[in-house]
Amino acid sequence: MQNWSIAQKQRLVELNADKSITEREFESLKERDAAFKQLERDLVKENKEKLKNLMEREHIPLTLRVERELEKWLTEKEDYTRVATPIIIGGDKLTKMNIEQDNHLREQVFWVDRKKCLRPMLAPNLYEVMRDLHRITNKPVRIFEAGSCFRKESQGAQHMNEFTMLNLVELDSVEDGSQMERLEALAKGAMEAVGIDHYELVRESSGVYIETLDIVADGVELASGSYGPHPLDANWGIFEPWVGIGLGLERVAMVKGEYQTIKRAGKSIAYVDGIPLKL
Ligand code: ATP
Ligand code: MG
Repeated sequence: MQNWSIAQKQRLVELNADKSITEREFESLKERDAAFKQLERDLVKENKEKLKNLMEREHIPLTLRVERELEKWLTEKEDYTRVATPIIIGGDKLTKMNIEQDNHLREQVFWVDRKKCLRPMLAPNLYEVMRDLHRITNKPVRIFEAGSCFRKESQGAQHMNEFTMLNLVELDSVEDGSQMERLEALAKGAMEAVGIDHYELVRESSGVYIETLDIVADGVELASGSYGPHPLDANWGIFEPWVGIGLGLERVAMVKGEYQTIKRAGKSIAYVDGIPLKL
């Protein structure tokens, strides 16, 4: 039996062929090469159609549509307010998040200079903003941010160095003891908003937070949720119960678009809306 050559397989993956196609086997090389030619032609045509549809009708790529759907759900149904905070943060914030030398995240940080880095997560900024809003209003605070985060990753099909996190947080919105219940409701709401129904909620223990709730679909971690009171809260002057979920927007788009690699959903000059520009 013959498999695709490495170059053929790469090209088929690039053109977003189904897994069933990229794993096909053939009786002979001749049969394989003829099948490749035909498939490549069909896939190029299909991708051109998609590009045409995007530019003439849809106009907004999948990852950005996911962001809009979540924004709509949060602001219209859940009374959330969107905030935007700096991408460059002080390294001392990482210490306050307990991301110390022994934590793998510390090694993943991109340093801008000795004291400043690109944020690997939104939590440090959101901790501060939610605390101050609560101090001023003395009411439950519900805020979210969607923006770039940066981590040095060994790449792979589910990781990028630059990705988009949507982090929602609530402070003083639920009674102590019902945080996990609220997290589950928010996780369900998020999946409903983006139209994913085949997901699992997985409870786990993590280094930075004590208990987390992950949303997993097709074996891909889409989001991690966590809650407090938490030992870190004192570093930030927070004393009320809180819950929060960080969703990776490219991961959500990857699952929705049935992409084999996250690069298709990420910020890119090689792909537009998951469509390769080398057509
Ligand atoms: P993983 O274990 O998959 O590396 P993580 O648990 O380290 O992810 P979190 O810190 O929980 O990631 O970040 C929240 C969400 O952000 C993840 O669930 C994922 O959807 C997304 N995310 C994290 N790192 C990346 C990355 N390098 N590229 C794309 N998305 C990411
Ligand atoms: Mg996680």
